[in-house]
Amino acid sequence: MKLYHLSSGPLRVNTYFLVNEDGRAVVIDGGENYKKVKQVESEYGFKICAVLLTHAHFDHAGNAKKLQDDGAKVYVSELDAKKLLNDDNLGKDFGRKFEYLIADYTFTDGQELEVCGIKIKALITPGHTDGSACFIVDNMLFTGDTLFLESVGRTDFKTGNREELIKSVKRLFDLDGDYVVYPGHQEFTTLSHERKNNGFVDYD
Ligand SMILES: [Zn+2]
Repeated sequence: MKLYHLSSGPLRVNTYFLVNEDGRAVVIDGGENYKKVKQVESEYGFKICAVLLTHAHFDHAGNAKKLQDDGAKVYVSELDAKKLLNDDNLGKDFGRKFEYLIADYTFTDGQELEVCGIKIKALITPGHTDGSACFIVDNMLFTGDTLFLESVGRTDFKTGNREELIKSVKRLFDLDGDYVVYPGHQEFTTLSHERKNNGFVDYD
């Protein structure tokens, strides 16, 4: 399995491509920019087979409908699936066009998914949105807008909740061992670095 990364859009959202040996790719948070994602796909010669969303905000899910139209299956938590069909995706608030879509699959907390031949564990980590999720693949932890390098996601948007976010970040810190952390924005980090240097969970 290979991992590719793209940072795109005005909010510099991180898109991750997990590419299987057979050339099928799982996209984690497609972002808003459809063309750039398709460019990466053709440049490396893989085929996008699924899109997993850490949450439904427009900057992460804005191109999901177009990728779905190309044949990719879209996965999201049950609570954030609703936001793909209403304005809780914040597209309207930020003056962005959002193409509504019906997710193909929803997942629940702790569910072990097999997506395009890749084993992925989903954790529901509410706080940034009520249905925000993180994904574990081998030693990689994809955290969306839950956990950033020495920071955490905002909780002042619709369905955000500060207490829930603290709980969710603590839950990530309580995972056994270390992970490379791939967040929804900004630099990569590791869980061990965040356990030491991320002061957020001391705030409660
Ligand atoms: Zn967000």
